Amino acid sequence: MGRKFFVGGNWKCNGTTEEVKKIVNVLNEGQVPSQDVVEVVISPPFVFLPLVKSLLKPDFHVAAQNCWVKKGGAFTGEVSLFHSKFKFDESCLCSAEMLVNLGIPWVILGHSERRLILNESNEFVGDKVKYALSQGIKVIACVGETLEQRESGSTVDVVAAQTKAISERVSDWSNIVLAYEPVWAIGTGKVATPAQAQEVHSELRKWLHANTSPEVAETTRIIYGGLQLSFLMNVQSSKGKNSLRSFYANVNSCVLGYGAVMAAVLARVLQLPFWRIHEHVLCMYLFLIAFGIPVSGSVNGANCKELAAQPDVDGFLVGGASLKPEFIDIIKSAE
Ligand code: PEP
Repeated sequence: MGRKFFVGGNWKCNGTTEEVKKIVNVLNEGQVPSQDVVEVVISPPFVFLPLVKSLLKPDFHVAAQNCWVKKGGAFTGEVSLFHSKFKFDESCLCSAEMLVNLGIPWVILGHSERRLILNESNEFVGDKVKYALSQGIKVIACVGETLEQRESGSTVDVVAAQTKAISERVSDWSNIVLAYEPVWAIGTGKVATPAQAQEVHSELRKWLHANTSPEVAETTRIIYGGLQLSFLMNVQSSKGKNSLRSFYANVNSCVLGYGAVMAAVLARVLQLPFWRIHEHVLCMYLFLIAFGIPVSGSVNGANCKELAAQPDVDGFLVGGASLKPEFIDIIKSAE
């Protein structure tokens, strides 16, 4: 039996009750392939889990964005680890038992925002995966390398080490979906192509084949999620000598991307000579954007079909676009 396509929507720390109702409405009314073809799992912030679960049609399932490494207890006030320095917070601390109690079948663990900001180690993530599985919660386990790691050629070693920390602690992979999320895909001026996604997915499958079993490698779903780091976060997350390089990479990407388009529009309107010199380059940018050719590493309605066509891409973990109607198109890419 083939691997069923999987689409996860990670809402991160977004939404009000009213917005949640609207998004759920769009999801409930969307014409999407049946559950036999695609498994859809929506992950709202912790406080909205019961609401989303009660409103969402039963074809879709719900996931928490994190859960604690062991049984809940004396962790007073640790519903959220909000840090005012950051613009968002998806770091709810709740125990797997609470998820069972709420009837939440899935949890996202090892998301790079948690690995980078909250310093969650491979071992800690592995422990959390093990504990969640032991409580009957299915896990979307995230792995992925940073820009520095990719540039130093250690992508496969990094994702292998992250996967190893899980495989050392669990033997049954049937309730795990592996999400490859290259941290470098956005906010750095770099572009994740479907071929690059496929390359890492294929390496991950080879790793599973060699280090777990051929069956695990064949049946485990490996999904793709390009990760949008905000400008502030990316600078925050790089330490030491790389901070400056990361800073310039971000400035570079902002200027190249949005800056060029704005400059083009302005130069055109004001009839500045700048427009004439750079019109070909700028037209190309506008062409790419207008025709939806991916200029970003995140999964969206425009690039999902091509990504889904890769042999080792078994679905997506979607951030920003899961809050928009285009999420329906992403689910449809399963067909
Ligand atoms: C994510 O955070 O899991 C993610 C994939 O984000 P985005 O799609 O916004 O890049």
